Amino acid sequence: MALVNCPECSHQVSNTAIDCPSCGTSLNKLKRSFFGKIFKWLFILFNIFMLVASFKACGGVSEVYTSSQNEYEQAGAAIGTTIGMGLMLTIWVFIDVILGLFVLFTRPKR
Ligand SMILES: [Zn+2]
Repeated sequence: MALVNCPECSHQVSNTAIDCPSCGTSLNKLKRSFFGKIFKWLFILFNIFMLVASFKACGGVSEVYTSSQNEYEQAGAAIGTTIGMGLMLTIWVFIDVILGLFVLFTRPKR
C-alpha cells in the first residue's frame, strides 16, 4: 500500500482507495470480474443474435406468404408466424431476464 496524491485536491490517499476520502473523486475504476464480463457480452451478443434472427425470420415468412398458392396456405403461414414469433419473443424475454440478472449480480463491487 502506497500513498499517492489525489489529482483533484492533492490530498494524500492510498493507491488502493476507490475514491478520495477528502473530495470523493474516483481514483480507481471498478472492474467487472471475469464472469461479469462474460455475462455482459453474452447479454449483448444474444440480443444482437435475436435481432438478426427476427429480421431473417420476417424475410422468410413474407417469402412463404407471397409464394403461397391459396388462402389456406396463407392462413397457415400467418398462424405459424404468429405462434412462432410469440414463442421466440417469450424465449427472448425469458433469456434476457436471466442473463440480465447475472449481469446485475456480477456487477463490480466496492
Ligand atoms: Zn481528493
